[in-house]
Amino acid sequence: MITRDDCRALDERDPLAELRGEFILAKEEIYLDGNSLGPVTRGTQRRVNQVIEHEWAEGLVRSWNAAQWMDAPLKLGDRLAPLIGAHAGEVLVADTLTFLLAKIIGGSLELRPERHVIITDAVNFHSDLYIVAGMARLVGREIVVKTIDRNTLDEHLDEDVALVMLTQVDFRTGEMLDMAGITRAVHEVGALMLWDFAHSTGAVPLDVTSADVDFAAGCGYKYLNGGPGAPAFMYVAPRWQGVLRNPLPGWLGHARPFDFESTYESAPGMRAYVTSSPSVIALGALDGALEVFERTTMAAIREKSLALTDLFIELVEESLPGVFELVTPREHDQRGSQVALRHSNGYGIIQALIERGVTGDFRAPDICRFGFAPLYLRYVDIYDAVQILVEVMSSSAYLDTKYERRLAVT
Ligand SMILES: *Cc1c(COP(=O)(O)O)cnc(C)c1O
Repeated sequence: MITRDDCRALDERDPLAELRGEFILAKEEIYLDGNSLGPVTRGTQRRVNQVIEHEWAEGLVRSWNAAQWMDAPLKLGDRLAPLIGAHAGEVLVADTLTFLLAKIIGGSLELRPERHVIITDAVNFHSDLYIVAGMARLVGREIVVKTIDRNTLDEHLDEDVALVMLTQVDFRTGEMLDMAGITRAVHEVGALMLWDFAHSTGAVPLDVTSADVDFAAGCGYKYLNGGPGAPAFMYVAPRWQGVLRNPLPGWLGHARPFDFESTYESAPGMRAYVTSSPSVIALGALDGALEVFERTTMAAIREKSLALTDLFIELVEESLPGVFELVTPREHDQRGSQVALRHSNGYGIIQALIERGVTGDFRAPDICRFGFAPLYLRYVDIYDAVQILVEVMSSSAYLDTKYERRLAVT
């Protein structure tokens, strides 16, 4: 049996332990939902205060020049690039994820004008499914969106496929896909590959360069801790820059926005994918949140992430044998940074846990989802969370009738 003292000993040896101090978290908070909304960092607090008090309050409209607000989406992209194995000039931070997916999907359909198929995963995040269908409707030629079982991708790949869009870590199960292998197979039939990194960035090491990825996009508010509704990011391989057009052009993606020309001429590089005014305060929040990542490496984060998820799985199976079905793969190379447990009373279980200080989330119809962010979680948090889960299950607290009505956000 693993004891709390064993976990405390792991915390003492944890090279990431001191980074917890960079997060503003209540002492008793056991937060297993950083995959849904990351907590506030001190870096974010400092940077947002600086933007408001100096750049905005003092600088006013002059800050567009003096504080280089126009360049913030690109500079922040450069700062984020190492987290996905990209280089400076290959990443843009703007909009939110669904919008950036729209830009990439629309643009890439123009790159394969003779092809008619987009492939995506039938159990992909609903927003990804909606936007891919929406963009397919708009392109002016017949496009079939095939929503497949991702394990059968090979059977569907042929010369009519324009684009494959997959989420690298599944939002429900936490299953992680082989980015390099799948990208290679997609390229073999001449199709383009778009990866959604919503549940990958800041949680698992990524290397878009060595995997030869065409396009990627990801979320700012999950493991990156950029704040509710934080701007998202997109990656365009250098070979596609200047080739992939922005299907949602706006003034700030123009080569000369302040010439107020009536015809559009795209700016070079990643600026081409800017549409409208950058959300400067929100960019500041994400900028500050990235500081803490620069004090460690994705390899160190990954090592601890696997240790935390292994520990959680082991403790749950040891203390609650047969109660849950483990949905997340046990194999390390197929696991992101979350653990999904299936139970028909999943909603009540999560609500009962939240009332007892352990925050996870519920994904319909029956998944209890727990995210593990190594920058601020301790091994003892995992131990304590499982003890509270045991209490919820053995007392049947999760069966309380008050959980029969679901809140709007689960
Ligand atoms: C969270 C998430 C989104 C939502 O992105 P928005 O920024 O709200 O548009 C989209 N896709 C996946 C896979 C996600 O996990």
